[in-house]
Amino acid sequence: KVTVFGSFVVDLMGRTPHLPAAGETVKGTVFKMGPGGKGFNQGVAAHKAGADVTMVTKLGRDAFADIALNTMNELHMDTGRVLYSETTETGCALIMVDENSSQNEIVVILGACNTITDQEVDSLEDLVARSEYLLTQLETNVSSVERIVDIAYRKGVKVILNTAPVQPVSDDLLGKIDLITPNEVEAEILTGIKVDSEEAADKAADWFFSKGVKNVLITLGQRGVYINTGEKKGIIPAYKVEAVDTTGAGDAFNGGLLAALAEGKNLWEAADFANALAALSVQKIGTTPSMPVREEIDAFMAA
Ligand code: ADP
Repeated sequence: KVTVFGSFVVDLMGRTPHLPAAGETVKGTVFKMGPGGKGFNQGVAAHKAGADVTMVTKLGRDAFADIALNTMNELHMDTGRVLYSETTETGCALIMVDENSSQNEIVVILGACNTITDQEVDSLEDLVARSEYLLTQLETNVSSVERIVDIAYRKGVKVILNTAPVQPVSDDLLGKIDLITPNEVEAEILTGIKVDSEEAADKAADWFFSKGVKNVLITLGQRGVYINTGEKKGIIPAYKVEAVDTTGAGDAFNGGLLAALAEGKNLWEAADFANALAALSVQKIGTTPSMPVREEIDAFMAA
């Protein structure tokens, strides 16, 4: 049993020949609307990969909320722990994807996910206590992340923190993290060390260790991931695929990592599984909808 605590937003995605400069209007080519949000993407990825996930997020009372609930119901995910705001709308993300480079620019308006109260987090104590892992990110209000991580830590539940979208985090929070999963940019912003070599990654990992983080995993895009447990370190290469939309690659990876760890795989095996899951997801447009099911992941890894 695992808990994923994080954001839901509706992704409003447009593909464009090039990303517009300030003041520029570009004629895009394809529009898609669908479920997203880092927390939700990671929860769905882990669920589809076979984990017993309880997804906690916060929605408004509006049509966008139905997109979350319909998705969860279609996937047979438990909606019983979803939180609601009566006053703030469901979040949304405005995503532009350059169809040549597959680079993206995103504005996220978090809405209800930015209003998770202390009382709401405290109401999750029983759920967290029964979980083997808590996976969370930095997309909901920071106070909610700090509070749920503290509950998990006090209950002896392992916390995986995906540091996206990146923002300063307290030493107190870092000291309660079993596994941190920044990408290269996030690792640099948090540690002040540019992760452009394995030696630099070692230094960044040492910085996290000095803050009390137990294990460090830095995702390196198409190069794969760097892992450092303090005792053992190395790089697990990514799978070579033709990427069409890398939006949500990190989410796919984190969901896969959680599912594999919850099954008892070690961190190295789990990272390979997560690389495979992410490689499948970047071959499809969209975030939540691009997460593969377990059979696809197993077949891809066996091929
Ligand atoms: P983020 O999406 O947070 O920026 P990364 O770009 O580091 O994160 O990607 C996360 C993971 O997704 C990588 O570690 C890798 O497993 C996978 N991935 C990303 N881009 C590609 C790609 N072009 N080909 C294969 N795998 C990829």
